[in-house]
Order: sequence, then C-alpha cells, then structure tokens
Amino acid sequence: MKENSEIKSYPSIVSFKNVTKIFNQGTPNEFMALKDVTFNIEDLPDVGEFIALVGPSGCGKSTVLNLIQGFQEVGPPTEGEILIRNKPVKGPGRDRGMIFQKYSSFPHLTVLQNVMFGLDLNNHTLGYKQSKMESIAREMIEKVGMSGHEEKYPYQLSGGQQQRVAIARTLVLKPRIILMDEPFSALDEPTRIEMQQLITNLWHEVEATVFIVTHSLAEAVYLSDRIFMFKANPGRLVSQRFIKPEEIGKEEGKSPIEVQESSKFKNYLKGITDEFLRIGGSE
Ligand code: ADP
Ligand code: MG
Repeated sequence: MKENSEIKSYPSIVSFKNVTKIFNQGTPNEFMALKDVTFNIEDLPDVGEFIALVGPSGCGKSTVLNLIQGFQEVGPPTEGEILIRNKPVKGPGRDRGMIFQKYSSFPHLTVLQNVMFGLDLNNHTLGYKQSKMESIAREMIEKVGMSGHEEKYPYQLSGGQQQRVAIARTLVLKPRIILMDEPFSALDEPTRIEMQQLITNLWHEVEATVFIVTHSLAEAVYLSDRIFMFKANPGRLVSQRFIKPEEIGKEEGKSPIEVQESSKFKNYLKGITDEFLRIGGSE
C-alpha cells in the first residue's frame, strides 16, 4: 500500500525492518512466528497514530507487541531490526506501556496503590514527592472514571473497572507508545463499547502511538487510523489500510454505537471484512 506522502517527512517512532522471529531455533520445536515484517510508524506532531493488528490466532500479533516492548522472554528478532525512535530495542522502558486482556494489576494492592506502583518504581528518575505521586495517580483514576474506588482491591471490581485501572496504571507514566493485547476481549459487549468511548476520549489528550490487538474488526475499524492485517504460518504482515474518521462517519460528539450503526461505518466494515477473508483471516 502506498504511504501518504504528506506524513512521510516526520521522524519515525516505531519501525520494523525485515523482522523475522524464530522461536526455539535449532531445536525440534523451532517455529517461525514472524517472517519478514516491515513497517514504519511516524511520530506525528500532537497526535499519536492508532494501529490495530488483526489476523487469525497464532499469526504473531502478540509477538509483534512483545518485540516492541522488549520482553526478555521473547528476546531480539532473529533477523532484521526493530527501532524505537531510530534506536534498537534493548529491553523494556518507560517510553512503552503494555495493557493485557487480564491480570494487569496486582491483586494485593488497592486501585490507588496499583496506579502509584509504576510512579514509585520509577521514582529515582521521576523524583516526585509522595504527595505529588498520589495526586498524579488520583487525577488519572478520575480520568478513567474510577473516582470513589481508590481504596478497593481488584477482586472488588468488575472486569471493565479492572481494565480502567490497567489503563490508568499505564497512562500515569505517560508512555509515548502504548501496546494493548486484546484489552477488551474478556468484557461483555456493553462494557466493551464503554471502553471504546473511554479510549477515544482519552486519546485526544494522550497523544501516544497505540498498537491494539483485537479480534473484532468493528473495534479495529472504529478505533484505529491504520489496520495491519496478518496472515499465519508463518506470521506475515500482508495488508495495511489507512482509515480516515470521515470515511466511517466518526465525528466528535457521536457515541461509538451511533457511529457503528451508521451505514457509512457498516459499508466500510464490509470492505475490510471482505479483504480480511480474502487474505485468509478467520473471524
Ligand atoms: P497471536 O497473538 O497472533 O495469536 P502469537 O504472537 O502469540 O500469535 O504467537 C505466534 C506463534 O508463535 C504461535 O504459534 C505461538 O505458539 C508461537 N510462540 C509465541 N511465543 C512463543 C515462545 N516464547 N516460544 C515458542 N513459540 C512461541
Ligand atoms: Mg495474541
């Protein structure tokens, strides 16, 4: 797919150059999870790009996120290069934050303690006083709609509320890159829609580059500026589609349901679904 020439001149924030990842290389369990994946995400001024990764199970979506995060369990790419702001990934860093489907919070810490955890951990570089950390955390808790729940433990919260806490824990550190691995997959449909609204509201403010893995093509179309479609065996990036808000009828003040029920949105989604099925994805 052609790159938009207007945005080509901005510096790169995340780029994959011919990335191949083989797990357990040289053993009978050798497995090529990703093959020759190349893409570039620009660091657009004042806005972050929102990229959705879709594709059948096992096509390497989580591996892409884990490689960006620099998780030790995944290690470096077998071939090729992964650059964050033009520097190779050496390990996790505060510039990147990950939100998982479940268990992103510590069960033995309260909501407030969970949100403060990352601030505490990084305090040697942040240098905040305890009172400052607490006020930053409380502000973030309010932004994700969790005021009044500060002293509760995760088990006392619904699934949607737990994900709000997970989002707060990540955002409080102001990462420039946010990685979300099926963050809403375990939630019921109404809660999922609420979370889409929350994400849409928050992202105007956060200005981070976001990668989200989702099973839902509707969610991918609704939330993202760009969709990456992957194919499995081995995992390959086979298509990139840029989406403009006006193409799907996404306007300020319209709820996710209003947008997703419009014929504009449905037509666009049909095009994406057809392409997805054509390249061999399974819904
Ligand atoms: P997806 O998120 O698209 O479902 P993953 O990125 O989790 O796919 O996995 C891609 C493939 O790589 C899967 O077949 C998976 O079993 C394999 N894989 C992932 N992590 C490891 C690992 N640490 N060791 C061996 N194989 C792995
Ligand atoms: Mg996965």
